[in-house]
Amino acid sequence: MNGAVLARDAAAPAVALTARQERGQRAVFCGLTSIIWLHRKIQDAFFLVVGSRTCAHLIQSAAGVMIFAEPRFATAILQDRDLAGLADCNEELDRVIAQVVARRPEIKTIFLVSSCPSEVIKLDLGNAARRLGHQYQGSVRFVDYSGSGIETTFTQGEDSCLQSLVAELPETAGSAPELLVAGTLSDIVEDQFARLFTALGIGPVHFFPARSAVDLPAVGSNTRVLLAQPYLNETARALQKRGATLLQAPFPLGAEGSLEWLRSAARAWQVDPTEFERVTAAPLARARRAVARQREALAGRRIFFLPDSQLELPLARFVQRECGMELVEVGTPYLDQQLLGAEAALLPRDLCITEGQNLDRQLDRVRRDRPDLTVCGLGIANPLEAEGLRTKWSIELMFTPIQGFDQAGDLAGLFTRPLARESRLEV
Ligand code: SF4
Repeated sequence: MNGAVLARDAAAPAVALTARQERGQRAVFCGLTSIIWLHRKIQDAFFLVVGSRTCAHLIQSAAGVMIFAEPRFATAILQDRDLAGLADCNEELDRVIAQVVARRPEIKTIFLVSSCPSEVIKLDLGNAARRLGHQYQGSVRFVDYSGSGIETTFTQGEDSCLQSLVAELPETAGSAPELLVAGTLSDIVEDQFARLFTALGIGPVHFFPARSAVDLPAVGSNTRVLLAQPYLNETARALQKRGATLLQAPFPLGAEGSLEWLRSAARAWQVDPTEFERVTAAPLARARRAVARQREALAGRRIFFLPDSQLELPLARFVQRECGMELVEVGTPYLDQQLLGAEAALLPRDLCITEGQNLDRQLDRVRRDRPDLTVCGLGIANPLEAEGLRTKWSIELMFTPIQGFDQAGDLAGLFTRPLARESRLEV
């Protein structure tokens, strides 16, 4: 943390999670994958990956389920001759950028996303972003970040993107508290939360990222940050370095998570507890009813999380406390105690948590324990299914609106579906 004094919410519970470290072969998508949900959210941004054909294929297949009239992402392919001369690379980059700017006048921000190949040849996209920023001054903003598989797993791509954007945020002018909700939320979820914050008298509220890349919220010592996603480690630190205070809360997954997440903001705004109960009563009851409908299919079933998205611990808390599932093991690629402190208080003391990945050993344990459901990456799911084990792709949780009261039933349903498929197969 570079020795910086970082502001924290005073109400933070001091509970630490203990995890066993695993190191070895990994099977996780790289950060380029997050372009799919980021570009859907930020509607006037363009993502230009500087990479290889492999990178282009990865994005195309990750986006394959969606049809775009004209997608707002592309890959500038590095050719063999680029590996020999960086000057050629920069010329090529300038040419591609000129094309994008000419063809897409509605684009206000272009993200230059580095990949494994561009990092291996040490192509400096930070410099390129500054140079292009000068050239297109006033019309297009250029922001660089890393999506490379050397540096990022698939959700870390968003962390890396938002961390770079924090440097672009203006300084707050006033001293009255402002709420910054950090982490990509689907528009429908953002609107639901915005309505609840208004009803609670909490505001002004900014969502980061916003639907428009030019809508950059100001940040400063009056900023209170409520994280909507658990993988924003570097973004949270960058905001704290700008003077913002991180509100400690569980993540808004399930009825309980959504309630406590909102309560954390309500505490910071000193909302009267009775008023808080009144505003949240109806959506909370709706969420509980929706989860209860799925609980029968989930209660008592054993679940194993392989490390993939960094959503694993909040999801484990939800399926255990609200759906009655039994946690066999919960793996997470990284464990950030600062961000997960409030989750830790809600997880079982003796929970088996692993941090990092040693794929072979983890798969051995899955085979030994034979859980009813394994949440894992796409590449691991098929072999496990072939062995008669039911799986859920963790990436599906990134493409589905799952946060908030009104999505709690759908979230439980994502775990119910593979089990329901199994019982149909058994019949
Ligand atoms: Fe593969 Fe690296 Fe490109 Fe990701 S960035 S697709 S890991 S080469």
